[in-house]
Amino acid sequence: MNTQKQFNRRFSFEFFPPKTPEGMAKLQTVRDSFAEKQPDFFSVTYGAGGSTQERTIDTVVTLHKQGISTAPHLSCIGATKKDLSKLLDLYKENDINRIVALRGDLPSGMGAHGELRYANDLVSFIREHSGDHFNIEVAAYPEFHPQAQSAEADLVNFKRKVDAGANSAITQYFYNADAYFYFVERVEKMGINIPIVPGIMPITNYSNLVRFSDMCGAEIPRWIRKQLEAYGDDSNSIVQFGEAVVTEMCEKLLKAGAPGLHFYTLNQAAPSLNIWNNLNLDSSGDRKSF
Ligand code: FAD
Repeated sequence: MNTQKQFNRRFSFEFFPPKTPEGMAKLQTVRDSFAEKQPDFFSVTYGAGGSTQERTIDTVVTLHKQGISTAPHLSCIGATKKDLSKLLDLYKENDINRIVALRGDLPSGMGAHGELRYANDLVSFIREHSGDHFNIEVAAYPEFHPQAQSAEADLVNFKRKVDAGANSAITQYFYNADAYFYFVERVEKMGINIPIVPGIMPITNYSNLVRFSDMCGAEIPRWIRKQLEAYGDDSNSIVQFGEAVVTEMCEKLLKAGAPGLHFYTLNQAAPSLNIWNNLNLDSSGDRKSF
């Protein structure tokens, strides 16, 4: 973890592109609350296979023009190089200089992988296309990707993305800080030397969290699961308990040298902002350094 301390800390908030004008209006309010915190960037997710393409572009360009650097997520599964080139050109024309490069997951019923199979192929393609224009973020999995052949293979595959030119990584969310520490230690031993920023998912709804975590391979430790289950329909207690647990984990991560935090906001302001405030990130002097 010590080598992660060489990097400036950075803080970012992730949104999904709203489907309706009402959703966009709500995101504007949410964006304004986060903008006050002067994060390093916002990011906007992308439906693999291009399902949110137009909405992602519109949301990214709108937020970017409002003054906080905004990064599109871009996935390669099911995409052609021609389409990806067009998107990269469009982002360059709009002065976007950061991209979260992903493989994505094939939507059910969609058979073709596209021309680039894995995220490392996309990172190479972005470098070929745009040189050093983009700061490229990739995904990291402290609890391993659900399709990984083995823990070892997943680490080797993570290294492929770094070797292809990724500048930094954002992790899948987790609730066990040791998984992150161990992951960082392993990749550092492999000679990987980029910031690996923990992805933070606030806990607000038990059943949604369980469904999503089962899908993406994030583990909810038994003691957290059992406590959340015990609250039943008492959503206030779930939120309070979740906030305390996640705040404590973030404190531990930052103290041990994690180079910042990336919040999966799900377009909700309060859950991430409450954690932010509990961490005193506004008043902790220069929050960017250790
Ligand atoms: P990869 O790094 O390509 O890895 C996928 C799997 O293939 C892994 O099991 C890996 O071990 C294996 N693998 C990788 N390279 C090779 C290789 N060369 N040879 C053999 N095996 C290999 N999804 C979306 O649809 N939209 C989003 O906006 C989005 N944003 C995300 C943001 C973050 C920070 C994270 C952590 C995930 C996000 N995802 C998103 C989910 C992501 O698309 C899925 O987890 C997807 O299954 C894997 O994408 P990846 O880029 O990690 O893939």
